[in-house]
Parts: sequence; structure tokens; C-alpha cells
Amino acid sequence: MAKDKAATILLVEDEENLQEALKLNLEMEGYEVSSAFDGPSALKSLQNEYFDLVILDIMLPEIDGITVLETLRLQHSALPVLILSAKNSSADKVLGLKKGADDYLTKPFNLEELLLRVQKLIEKNKQLQDKETIGINYSFGNNNIDFKALEATNYKGDKIELSKKEAMLLKLLIENKNEVVTREKILQAVWGYNVYPTTRTIDNFILSFRKYFEEDSRNPRYFHSVRGMGYKFTD
Ligand code: CA
Repeated sequence: MAKDKAATILLVEDEENLQEALKLNLEMEGYEVSSAFDGPSALKSLQNEYFDLVILDIMLPEIDGITVLETLRLQHSALPVLILSAKNSSADKVLGLKKGADDYLTKPFNLEELLLRVQKLIEKNKQLQDKETIGINYSFGNNNIDFKALEATNYKGDKIELSKKEAMLLKLLIENKNEVVTREKILQAVWGYNVYPTTRTIDNFILSFRKYFEEDSRNPRYFHSVRGMGYKFTD
């Protein structure tokens, strides 16, 4: 987790004045804001960049907010979403929550309230992402990793030099032992903000880990790919 970096927000709102006012206020609070004015560009941004939060208007050109929400939930199950629903449309609000929004505001809303909710959602998400950290050394099977020295000794007694990114990915997977770590989370934690290597890059790292640490790399015991979801370490 890059705690020192500004949290990033995707702001999906087609009313230009509101978009501009919200962007300005969020930036004043220290957030990094990307703007989308319609459904398709929102989805495109979500596919290409990492965000800590999405503020999503319901009434949008081309693809409405509810559909955007449904689509983004397929890939980003934990991404906090705050929906903005039009005045007198409690149906939108209910539907939005049913489809997986984390919070909502009805227009016109109080700006202070929006900023507070944004802050709360982002903090909650960071707490969920912060896992118990492991020490400098970690052993599984007859493998041992020294995260500080960027070295490992495997079950055969071979010494392996790890790249910084390899060590970071190992640490992330091990800290989330027995849980699927999503591709977005890996990219965020290991490659940093908004720099997107291809899925292939992560796959290659996993293949290396199997080569280093698995006795039978074709039937991995420790490093698993979970199709369409991410990667998992089991011990
Ligand atoms: Ca709108």
C-alpha cells in the first residue's frame, strides 16, 4: 500500500459544472481526480487505471451509472463506489445499493457531507487492505525467503537471488495466505499507481516462483492462479 501517495478517485459525472466543482474540491482535499463524463469512458478508465474510489452519477449518457456499476463489479469486487442519485429517485438509490454501491448521496447534496463520505470510504478500504505483516524471513515447505537480503534458499538448497519486485509480490501473496489477491491489488502494491503491465507480466512472476519453489511446477502446491480473479498462495 502506497500510503503516502494521494488516493485516486474516478469522478463520473456528466454535468459539467458539478464535475468541475467536485473535482476542484476533491483536489483541494489532496485527492488525485480523473474525470469521466459518460459510461463508456468511465469503464475504459476503470480498465486501465487503479482507483481508490469511484464517485458515480446514475443518469449518464450512453451507459447509465447502474450498468457501469454492474460492469465494474465483475472485475473490481472491493472498489468503493459512492453513487450520486437524482433528486426524488429513491428507486435509483435502492437499485444502486443492490448492485453493490457502498454509499450514496442524493442530489443536491452538501459538499462537506460528500467529502466526509469519500474520506470514510477510502479509509475503510485501506484498513481492509492492510494485512498483518510478515517478518524478514519466511519459510514454507523447505523453502526459505529472506526479504531483507532479497534472497531465497529453495528445497533443493539452491540459492536464489530475488528481484525487488519478486520479493514484493512474494510478500504480498504470503501476507494474504489462502486468499485470492486480485490483479488490481498486485498492480497497485507492486507496480505502483497507474502503471499497468500486462497480465502476462504477473503470470511470468508466478511461473518463476513455481520454478524456484515448487517440487512439481506443473502441479503447484504453493502458487496458484485463479482464473479471472487473481493469484493465491497456500501453505
Ligand atoms: Ca447526470
